[in-house]
Amino acid sequence: MKRKIQSLRNLITGDTINADKWLASLKEPELFVLRGKLKRDYKESNVEFVCEICNQPVYLVGNIKKEHYFKHWQELGDCPIKTSGKYSQKEINRMKYNGAKESKAHIEIKEHLYKMLSVDHLCSQVNKEKVVKSIDIEGWWKKPDISLFVRDNNVVIEIQLSTTYLDVIVDRTLFYEKNETMMLWVFAEKAMQGFRFTEKDIFYNNKRNAFVITSESKKISKENGRLHLLCCYQEPSLENDIIKDKWTEQIISIEELKFDKNQFKVYYFNYEQHLKSLKGILLDSLSKQFESFWVNQDQSGEEVRGRRIIDFIVKFNELGIEIKEISHKLFNIISALYSLKHGKVIKYRFPNLLGLTNMILEEYKDYTYIYLWAIHTFNRSEDISSADSFKRKVERYKEEKPLQNKDHDNFLAILFPELSGKIINRNN
Ligand SMILES: [Zn+2]
Repeated sequence: MKRKIQSLRNLITGDTINADKWLASLKEPELFVLRGKLKRDYKESNVEFVCEICNQPVYLVGNIKKEHYFKHWQELGDCPIKTSGKYSQKEINRMKYNGAKESKAHIEIKEHLYKMLSVDHLCSQVNKEKVVKSIDIEGWWKKPDISLFVRDNNVVIEIQLSTTYLDVIVDRTLFYEKNETMMLWVFAEKAMQGFRFTEKDIFYNNKRNAFVITSESKKISKENGRLHLLCCYQEPSLENDIIKDKWTEQIISIEELKFDKNQFKVYYFNYEQHLKSLKGILLDSLSKQFESFWVNQDQSGEEVRGRRIIDFIVKFNELGIEIKEISHKLFNIISALYSLKHGKVIKYRFPNLLGLTNMILEEYKDYTYIYLWAIHTFNRSEDISSADSFKRKVERYKEEKPLQNKDHDNFLAILFPELSGKIINRNN
């Protein structure tokens, strides 16, 4: 069986080409022109098309059945595709990945980065293709396009002309993370055309930030004497109380890059942090709506109320507040705490807060801690703490130290932010 070359690389643009598809698209005269060009380029050592795996020049042959295919020049060394079984797919991918670094387009971006970074006072020890050895695995090393320090951050830069080599990218990210080095992926502008972020691990692994060299970023870099990159990132925003992710692009200077020293990531926009603060805003508004619903007993029937409560619980859940075991007990505690907050008995039929308090401390001993803090925090001591019945129950609580229920700490901390410090940081 003849082993045909399946994919080629254009050494000028860095593009990879599917051999069968390309040949099928060419008419007979074009095939002859291509055949002549490949021979001439090889003789003149001015090669444009190479085998994607071994980076060696190719020529075009045709048989009597008018089938055309590319071959390696025989006098050159062996290509891994000729010696099948010798290399794993992973190794072949790595060869292709390294081969991509030979293209003119790749070298051009590398030179641009090197030129801008090596004169920048924020950067030091700027090197091209310096070997980075693994700190824990002997014989394991990589040769990044550029290595440098940005302020005191150890950074390597890898250029990507295409998003083809995803497994190599993931592999390298792990290598550098293990070696406590930050990896900055820089994509070529054309790699981003048709780049589907949703499918790309690399993008999600990098705090949803991707950096691109564009003709505009190059121009701005030269004008400012400092490297600028286009950062494409996902930004969460609120639309009618729903969090939506939207794409944003911005040209940033290397000075604006941020470094995550725990995860070894280089980023500009912190998606997680913004998401957290938006969730905080939504939770705050939701808990206010819940309070108003709970405190203002409207005249709607049990069924309607029940459905609204479920609605609230679903919304809290969506915002990350998991409510375990929804029970009457939980509802009663919530009513009691709102009673303290608003200074009037809510939902219960007690004539005053002391009556309510005596019942809670008797029936819900496992919520005594939170309840006592609520009396203090909402300034209800005056109405309650002088009563002997109350004092006795507090004494008993101190002696017996009943186990406290913590199942709903997160939920109660959101409903009662005034108590959240005491709830979340408690030891008992
Ligand atoms: Zn080859």
